[in-house]
Amino acid sequence: MLSKLFDGLLDLFFPPRPECPFCGASSKVGVVCANCRLRFREYRMAPHCPRCGRIMRPEIAIPSDMVPLCRECRVHGWPFDLARALGPYEDNLKQVIHRLKYGGSRWLARPVASLMAEVLEFGEMPVMFDLIVPVPLSRDKLRHRGFNQSALLAKEIGTVLGIPVDERSLIKVLETPAQTGLNRTARQLNLRGAFQVANRSGIYSKDILIIDDVFTTGSTMSAVATTLKQSGAKQVFGLTAATGRYV
Ligand SMILES: [Zn+2]
Ligand SMILES: [Zn+2]
Repeated sequence: MLSKLFDGLLDLFFPPRPECPFCGASSKVGVVCANCRLRFREYRMAPHCPRCGRIMRPEIAIPSDMVPLCRECRVHGWPFDLARALGPYEDNLKQVIHRLKYGGSRWLARPVASLMAEVLEFGEMPVMFDLIVPVPLSRDKLRHRGFNQSALLAKEIGTVLGIPVDERSLIKVLETPAQTGLNRTARQLNLRGAFQVANRSGIYSKDILIIDDVFTTGSTMSAVATTLKQSGAKQVFGLTAATGRYV
């Protein structure tokens, strides 16, 4: 409750201004400027792993129709079917995600989500989704932060695409320590049993789009996808605001 009040105060003191949320160029309130929109469109054209969507390092020049799978996808694979993101977790995209997540600027969910919805229009995801499911926070984390940034993004994307958002069927039952510095196996162990399906009939036989803020190691997306598929989800796709890069 207190943190909700605090966030409300932050929104009061740092309200949206008539500038692009990404670069600060003058713009209508909450509207992304043409330059930034172009930059995000270029990320969609940039070489990225066809499976997990991570973007290649810019120094590697490969025609975009010849991009190989990244090492993770070649060696291990994933429980989700495809993942995509708006852009790399760098520069002002990273800053905007931090302002949304830790700075209390919840209004940023709308401009970020509208750009994320455009990623889907690029046509690499093969299906229309039955359901959008945000990656949940544990009850303690939610109480502490006052909101779930992934749920805010999911609601906005659901509105844009006209797809129902289900915030209740998937829950996070274990708080997990920070994943930083852990290897793949340790990260998977860390997340084992963290997510649970609370309403199996809501998930069963559905094509689901998972929404999260960042795809870094892919372990959170994997843990969620595994849990949903164990409950009978048909196909599971991931969409995040930002993703990592690979060589
Ligand atoms: Zn801009
Ligand atoms: Zn990959």
